[in-house]
Amino acid sequence: GDVCRYAVVTGANKGIGFETVKQLAKSGVTVILTARNEKRGMKATSLLNEQGLSNVVFHQLDVQDAKSIESLAKFVQTQYGRLDILVNNAGASGVVVDEDVLRALNVDPVDWLAGKAVNVIQVAMKTTYESAKLCLDTNYYGVKNVTEALLPLLQNSPSARIVNVSSLRSELKRVPNEERRKELGDVENLTEDKLDKILQNFLHDLKQDALEVNGWQMMLPAYSISKVSLNAYTRILARKYPKMCINCVHPGYVNTDINWHTGTMPVEEGAEGSVMLALLPDGGPTGCYFDRTVVDEF
Ligand code: NDP
Repeated sequence: GDVCRYAVVTGANKGIGFETVKQLAKSGVTVILTARNEKRGMKATSLLNEQGLSNVVFHQLDVQDAKSIESLAKFVQTQYGRLDILVNNAGASGVVVDEDVLRALNVDPVDWLAGKAVNVIQVAMKTTYESAKLCLDTNYYGVKNVTEALLPLLQNSPSARIVNVSSLRSELKRVPNEERRKELGDVENLTEDKLDKILQNFLHDLKQDALEVNGWQMMLPAYSISKVSLNAYTRILARKYPKMCINCVHPGYVNTDINWHTGTMPVEEGAEGSVMLALLPDGGPTGCYFDRTVVDEF
């Protein structure tokens, strides 16, 4: 029979998350659109409701806030008693734009925010300790904490799906340090404790201004490490819960706020990978990394 399915999408007030909610709702799934900001989330939900998607409901969720996570889990428990689909989509870039650099280049900061100065963004991006910490807390620990809170509800589903929105930057071949690359790719022996230690080392080296000497020289170091860890976590989870389909996906280079609209793909296409993995049939792939809708190497 055509049983109703329930989904949670994180960071869904805009960008790929918003579009993922829209596409899932159109295919008949009841979607809980979540956002850390109540106003932005309610506005996004109303927009979809007005388009005839009455199966979208709002609940606040800040993936960095334990109380907020707990409150969402309680809501899902009391309203639906189970969860079928979790899309961990919320993300942070790990960089800030150095406004001094912009000014030196004669660029108005207001213009880059509006996506009008894409050519200088690469030059002006910088990773600070705070931006890196925020990135790891959102992209890795946020996903982990939300997932742990919702797992009991996912276990009540006959066909649970978890989609972790990752990035091309997560690919192991981009990790310069060979030892670390091996450790992160050794799915048989990886544990969450090991991941914690790697992330602690990364932050320590960043604080000491020693990223390069310690083999972390990557284009977007914090973002990359957060997504490499997210992929590793995806594989750990997939082994632990063999009945679910748990995968991670690169959405494509999508035109959103996270890259100051340097991305070229429309959100409609950027959400396709997440939606496909959320709607996988039983017996579908698990513990895999997808480049959009195609399975790829970690
Ligand atoms: P957006 O900036 O448009 O969306 C990011 C979303 O995450 C926003 O809704 C934002 O909320 C939310 N968010 C950030 N921090 C938190 C938090 N602590 N709690 C809850 N929500 C939070 O970017 P995208 O749509 O592009 O990003 C979606 C995902 O896709 C991210 O995981 C990103 O890393 C990934 N990705 C994107 C690519 C691209 O080219 N666009 C490429 C590869 C991966 P708020 O509005 O309140 O800030």
